[in-house]
Amino acid sequence: MRIAANEVHFRSINDRLAADLRPVVADVDGELVDFVCECGHPSCTEALRMTLREYGRVHEDPMRFAVRAGHELADVEEVVARGDRYLVVRKLETMRDVVERP
Ligand SMILES: [Zn+2]
Repeated sequence: MRIAANEVHFRSINDRLAADLRPVVADVDGELVDFVCECGHPSCTEALRMTLREYGRVHEDPMRFAVRAGHELADVEEVVARGDRYLVVRKLETMRDVVERP
């Protein structure tokens, strides 16, 4: 459960960043922003470069997170998309309670 809690924590950091940047980023499709990796590893401090549009799309589903390649955790999530800069993972249904807890 700790793992999903970490991911939710990093997502909330990224959500604030996205909200702060949205008014100042002119090109939401082209400009790459440094988000933090949303993987469950407590010691991970790696950055993830995404456009605001990409970030918004990943999080249309609250069960999805963006992580660096190799940071996915097969026992709690599945990889649903692979890009050049990041992977999109989706939590297994058994994790839903943790992910959606406010
Ligand atoms: Zn990571």
